Amino acid sequence: MNIPSHGRMKEEILADMRDARAGDIQWQQGKAFSLVFQANQDVEEVAQQAYLMYFSENGLNPSAFPSLRKFETEVVSMSAHLLGGDQNVAGNMTTGGTESILLAVKTARNWARATRPEIQQPEIILPISAHPAFDKAAEYFDIRLVKTRLDDGFRADPSAMQASITPNTILLVGSAPSYPQGIVDPIPTIAQIAQAHGLLMHVDACVGGFILPFIRRLGYPVPEFDFSVPGVTSISADLHKYAYSAKGASVILYRNRDLRRKQYFIATDWPGGIYASPTMTGTRPGGAIASAWAVMNFLGEQGYLELARQTMETRDRILAGIRSIPGLDVLGDPDLSIMAIASRRGDIYAIGDEMSARGWHLDRQQFPPSLHLTLHPGHARVVDQFLKDLRQSAQIEARPSISKLRTRLGLRLAQFAANRLPAGVLSRLMKSASRFLTNGEAGLPQRSAAMYGLMGSLPNRGDLRELVLDLLDQMTHLEENR
Ligand SMILES: *Cc1c(COP(=O)(O)O)cnc(C)c1O
Repeated sequence: MNIPSHGRMKEEILADMRDARAGDIQWQQGKAFSLVFQANQDVEEVAQQAYLMYFSENGLNPSAFPSLRKFETEVVSMSAHLLGGDQNVAGNMTTGGTESILLAVKTARNWARATRPEIQQPEIILPISAHPAFDKAAEYFDIRLVKTRLDDGFRADPSAMQASITPNTILLVGSAPSYPQGIVDPIPTIAQIAQAHGLLMHVDACVGGFILPFIRRLGYPVPEFDFSVPGVTSISADLHKYAYSAKGASVILYRNRDLRRKQYFIATDWPGGIYASPTMTGTRPGGAIASAWAVMNFLGEQGYLELARQTMETRDRILAGIRSIPGLDVLGDPDLSIMAIASRRGDIYAIGDEMSARGWHLDRQQFPPSLHLTLHPGHARVVDQFLKDLRQSAQIEARPSISKLRTRLGLRLAQFAANRLPAGVLSRLMKSASRFLTNGEAGLPQRSAAMYGLMGSLPNRGDLRELVLDLLDQMTHLEENR
């Protein structure tokens, strides 16, 4: 495809875009349980107007836009105070949780280079539930990850983490909460171990950072997780989640400025001048910085408290509703408004397919199989319909049917083949499978139970990697999609 040789009318383009959107998830109707965090119309307007006002500004050079520097400094300071930090805590805004985590890891690596130069192959110890952004960081920065098990309540197991410490360990990680089951790790114990061994400790509060402090004030029990815990040396918290900012906004915070210095990048020999950049990106979108600042000022503590109250009321209703549906269960004891639904007897992915057919967008999870829910105030009005559809989906799944039998038979066959075919043949098969599963179209298949069943049962995770690489490749490859 080429750029159109002549430009088109604005109205026509916007109409095309509105049409294109029709196939997207209807998050405005409260149908999405990930990806979008919705407070209310007023908040959205403030976030949008602030973003548009700073649409063109660039946060790369803070001396050019003192206003953006003020906004960033104040957002970081407000976040640090909310998360138990004193005046020594320092940080930056980033474009998202992944960038915040990449920076925390890079900072830990550079800290280790300076303070423990004997380490050749640095290692990070983290529970298996920690976000894949740490895997990304490890791949980018050539760091070894050591993953430890969870306890029966889906919490990190500190003794397993302690037992994994070697002379190469530089950083321990805990989540507040972990994304898959929405459960806060035992941060004080992990931080204590880190301190006793002279290690850094990062708390991933990407999704919990801007709601946990408020639900604690509402009287819900919230485990200790922030800078008030001795030994916690850095925290990531996403503004574009429960702080309801425009997307592209997160904070990375450090216990002190010495640690933050290890994050910065400076090139002194470039003909273009001395280039200093605090975060991973060069150009930094002014809109996201301005939007976060505006929403925090618009809502204030009282506004966040009220939104947290609405979210937790919805959570309580959903939690009770799911637990009352025969055969369904919530994994563990969710600390906030994030949870995983599992089926005790049936196929939870098939229940997910029934929910998809009813317009609900729920992420599929593995180990154990479950559906994921992230709740926000926008879900308050869909609770009854959601629970009704979920109950019906579980009932339908429990009934025997031909298509289910076929799925199960196909699965058996795939497992049989996967265990017996030579690797080369298998990977070619996987390629055609990926096409078959997506019906040759971009995007994930409507009926995913078969695919997830197949993926979960593959003996070789390398084949799965290849399959997903193929899927990604096809999704953004225009010619092949036609
Ligand atoms: C969302 C999330 C991240 C990653 O944040 P992005 O903004 O998607 O890059 C990391 N950790 C946890 C626990 C999250 O929920």
